[in-house]
Amino acid sequence: MIMKVSVILTSYNKPDFIDRVLKSMVEQTYPHWELLIMDDGSEQGTIQKIQPYLSDERIQLYSHTVHPAKRLLTARYATLINEALTRITGELICYLTDDTVYHKDRLLKMVDVFRSKPHIDIVYSSQRVVHVNQHLVETMSFVREANQILEHASFQVDHCSVMHRSRLLPLIYEKYGQYWDDEPKHWHHADSVFWMRLNHFASFFPLKAVLDTTYKTPHSFHHQFSSMPYDLIDGTIIE
Ligand code: UDP
Ligand code: MG
Repeated sequence: MIMKVSVILTSYNKPDFIDRVLKSMVEQTYPHWELLIMDDGSEQGTIQKIQPYLSDERIQLYSHTVHPAKRLLTARYATLINEALTRITGELICYLTDDTVYHKDRLLKMVDVFRSKPHIDIVYSSQRVVHVNQHLVETMSFVREANQILEHASFQVDHCSVMHRSRLLPLIYEKYGQYWDDEPKHWHHADSVFWMRLNHFASFFPLKAVLDTTYKTPHSFHHQFSSMPYDLIDGTIIE
């Protein structure tokens, strides 16, 4: 039986990274996937890097225009993911950011777990975290290990290291009235809030291999706003 994977990529102005992210998708050894690129109003530099990949019929671009004063009103990536989740067609789902690359066997190895273990609903893997400077030169790196079954995956597992069955989605929607919580106070950890929702229904099963590398750049939203109190990140500053 073929299992299709829906990958949801959120993108916003990472022209130096987006190409390697998309390359890491088309180089996957597992071919049965769709990629939904949820772009949040990037400038041309990023869109031009995305364009060549759209000839792959597995890849769809959804472009959004956001008024600057509205950009901080929700955790944008969670808002975009919620929209994507209404469009996906796969029975397995995973998430990707525009500063992370999947290793080439990432989908294959995760799908194998779901194929051989029908009782497992969520899988996560180890991740390499690389800090780079403004010239994209590596300054520090470490591995976040996946080594145990997690009943509480929040703040343990990154956005890009998870795959789950889509059959969990209606359960989450019924219980919480939405999929991801996009309240602005969750800007830095909306993934963890979603893991809590997933954990209500299933545990995270570890796949003990490094299957993605994420890059921390000085330009990331996280760095730009890390000194700002959460309760100010609600759009009022820009307005
Ligand atoms: N993002 C977005 N809209 C924005 C800012 C960011 O969709 O206005 C997306 C971005 O493309 C990425 C995710 O949110 O997929 C996290 O952003 P970033 O990598 O800048 O933050 P950090 O890694 O510091 O948490
Ligand atoms: Mg990031």
